[in-house]
Amino acid sequence: MSTPKKIAIIGSGITGLAAAYELTLKARQTDTPVEIKIYEKASYPGGKIITKKDDSYLIEGGPDCFIIEKPWALQLVKELGLEDELLNTSSQASGTFVYDNHALHRLPEGVMMMVPTKPLPFLASKLISWPGKIRMACDILVPKRKESGDETLASFVRRRLGREALDKLAEPLIGGIHAGNPDNMSLLSTFPRFLEMEQDGGSLIIGMLKRQKKMVEMMKKNPAPMGPKKTFFISMNDGLGQIVEKLGEVIGSENILLERDISQIKPAPEGGWVIEEKNREATTADAVIIATEAYAAAGLLRNQLPRLSDLLDEIPYVSSATVSLAFPRKDIPHPLDAYGFIVPKIANRRIMAVTWSSIKWNHRAPEGMVLLRAFVGGAHRQELVANGDQEMLAMVREELKTIMNISNPPQKSWIYRWPKGMPQYIMGHLERLAAIDKITNDHQGLFLAGAAYRGIGIPDCINNGRQTADRAWENLSS
Ligand SMILES: Cc1cc2nc3c(=O)[nH]c(=O)nc-3n(C[C@H](O)[C@H](O)[C@H](O)COP(=O)(O)OP(=O)(O)OC[C@H]3O[C@@H](n4cnc5c(N)ncnc54)[C@H](O)[C@@H]3O)c2cc1C
Repeated sequence: MSTPKKIAIIGSGITGLAAAYELTLKARQTDTPVEIKIYEKASYPGGKIITKKDDSYLIEGGPDCFIIEKPWALQLVKELGLEDELLNTSSQASGTFVYDNHALHRLPEGVMMMVPTKPLPFLASKLISWPGKIRMACDILVPKRKESGDETLASFVRRRLGREALDKLAEPLIGGIHAGNPDNMSLLSTFPRFLEMEQDGGSLIIGMLKRQKKMVEMMKKNPAPMGPKKTFFISMNDGLGQIVEKLGEVIGSENILLERDISQIKPAPEGGWVIEEKNREATTADAVIIATEAYAAAGLLRNQLPRLSDLLDEIPYVSSATVSLAFPRKDIPHPLDAYGFIVPKIANRRIMAVTWSSIKWNHRAPEGMVLLRAFVGGAHRQELVANGDQEMLAMVREELKTIMNISNPPQKSWIYRWPKGMPQYIMGHLERLAAIDKITNDHQGLFLAGAAYRGIGIPDCINNGRQTADRAWENLSS
């Protein structure tokens, strides 16, 4: 590349930031002059990642952790020199509760992603009825599905583990990750490993046990493959906002343009792309990475690429909200001996889950206080997200009174709404992605990335952002 090339990234969520970071590294490593600009509609970078400090509280408005099983977030944190800032889940508690039949039941030890791997705690638990337990154990006998291809999460779990496992475990635990509806969720796009386990081991239970054995053997061979011991879920001492801040430093704040609402992307007559924005002159770039929500990308491309725009619009989203509340410890009768609880849809309540944030993570609330975070909305109760603050707070308090017997009001509260915040990978998602790829591949210099496509978790978004940056770089270099 002789003359400085221009790359525009639309959206400064973790995907857009990871893409800009990767491009910045490449430009520095190869000493290539290239202009990398991120255009962000909001007044802050980070998209769904919002960390707020208020007195001695640390509040996460969106995500509060990432998993280490998918290595890309951990790897980025290390590259950024933030390894010492990683925060394990606290050892003062462990596990989670499930609200069922008007009581909180501990999720039996050894239940991994809905699959029981330890017989004794599972048999002793009152969460699943005896017929339900027997049905789950039948997984070992149920033959493999003959047809290949996709299936909904609900149909898969009903088939292998039975109805009760779907209602009390899979729906809140697995469906809950996407705030989704298991009846339309594509298993192949969300948790393909379950289908692989069935195909490989003939059973989920056997497949999960094999996986555990493999992990133990791996740990024996290499006791600390990822450095000092880390928990499955991990966060940062100062919240996930720390990653956003550091990425901003590397990319350069002058390259992250805030309050820039892009309205249209169209091919430039001389090659490259024109980026139009509200109330400003249009600008051009040799390549554009659109790292917004899929429906926002659809809006940007509507006039020029209507078929692509329609496909993007077919990716549905659901709305949710987080409500964080600070209570004096003495006002909470529960022993708080876990990280929180999940609420299955069949319990018919108005919250999906509650994280006991200051129990799960150290340094989140001052001495003597407890920070809880409730999730509202999701595929089943989206309408609740539109409630006003007073109504939302009153509703969450009523739910906490019923479930945890907390009567006194919180001393502080923080509400974050995420309208159309969670993309849903419903049946047909993979075919839709293939059709989207086919069109973008025909348009040199146009790239799409983000949570809507190949994984909604932070590690997947980082991986997708960096891989997309690789492709954009290659494209410019050729
Ligand atoms: C409540 C909640 C809890 C979650 N918890 C977890 C968790 O604990 N762990 C985990 O791994 N994942 C979690 N997730 C998922 C994860 O946070 C998101 O999938 C991920 O952060 C999305 O990143 P992104 O960059 O793809 O998109 P976003 O963060 O949505 O960023 C897109 C950006 O594009 C901008 N934009 C849109 N339109 C335009 C335009 N026209 N012009 C300019 N800019 C525009 C938006 O303002 C936004 O900043 C959670 C999500 C939510 C909502």
